[in-house]
Amino acid sequence: MLIKGYSDFSLDTPGCAPGAPVFRAHCKLDTDVTELFPYINAVALDAEYYDKPHYIQFTLDGVRCALYPDHVAARMFDNREQALKFFGQLIDFLNDLYSKKDSIVPNHKKYRPVPVLTIFKLLPQTNCRECGFSTCMAFAASLSKGETALNQCPELDNPANQNVVKLQSVLS
Ligand code: SF4
Repeated sequence: MLIKGYSDFSLDTPGCAPGAPVFRAHCKLDTDVTELFPYINAVALDAEYYDKPHYIQFTLDGVRCALYPDHVAARMFDNREQALKFFGQLIDFLNDLYSKKDSIVPNHKKYRPVPVLTIFKLLPQTNCRECGFSTCMAFAASLSKGETALNQCPELDNPANQNVVKLQSVLS
């Protein structure tokens, strides 16, 4: 077992929702969990692994959390009980991962989103909507997050298009 418990539990209201009945929760772990980051990156849903500061964001049981070497921030919760329950689940998840890590191939790749404007400059910029987005900028934003595919734009489904090669390179 890597983590035995946590301390300094607190709740606050996120700046994006002042006064709303939703909470963000924090706690301090009793041990450094940095060694688990590449394993979380390998198995967790929507993991985003960052260098500076060194932390990883991922979703566990529908809750988005940011895990730092020795503390955690997670959102959104309706109340204290929900947040406490989540931290219990998170620690179980991390300890389980620690026990299985010899059988998991770690993923050390860091998350580096491509700027939306870099992508947009390589799109046809006709806002024809055939990709299902209302503008080329909206399509670029979705591509940047990895939520859609290049070939959703008919213009980019053409291998002779020079921008396709450039887009494939920046998005890889
Ligand atoms: S299909 Fe292509 S050109 Fe049309 S809006 Fe989407 S990204 Fe822009």
